[in-house]
Amino acid sequence: MKSYKKELWFETQQRRQLINITPKVEECLQESGVKEGLVLVNAMHISASVFINDDESGLHHDFEVWLEKLAPEKPYDQYKHNGFEDNADAHLKRTIMGREVVVAITGGKLDFGPWEQIFYGEFDGKRKKRVLVKIIGA
Ligand code: ZN
Repeated sequence: MKSYKKELWFETQQRRQLINITPKVEECLQESGVKEGLVLVNAMHISASVFINDDESGLHHDFEVWLEKLAPEKPYDQYKHNGFEDNADAHLKRTIMGREVVVAITGGKLDFGPWEQIFYGEFDGKRKKRVLVKIIGA
């Protein structure tokens, strides 16, 4: 069995941003040499997500509006967590959008359903943060 690990680093310009990381995960898969197995991709921070969905700008806008309705960033003092921090909304958004994804590897490729793409969801950005890619298989 082969095992492969890599950390991908991100520093977004905005506090919240969605990044399609599918090409980077595909690069990892090529480097790993795994043809049959599983890839785990997870955010290493509790204010960011990794999730699978459509790479469609309208939908990304809808995510932003929906998440702001559920857990608005402001006013900061609506959250008990925001004593020394201002990122309570980011923790809540991360929980809804998820920590990680697992994708099957078949024939050396990510075995996606129609339109599936892997995203890094940043909810408290403008600083360096990372994602773990772990691949196991043969
Ligand atoms: Zn916090």
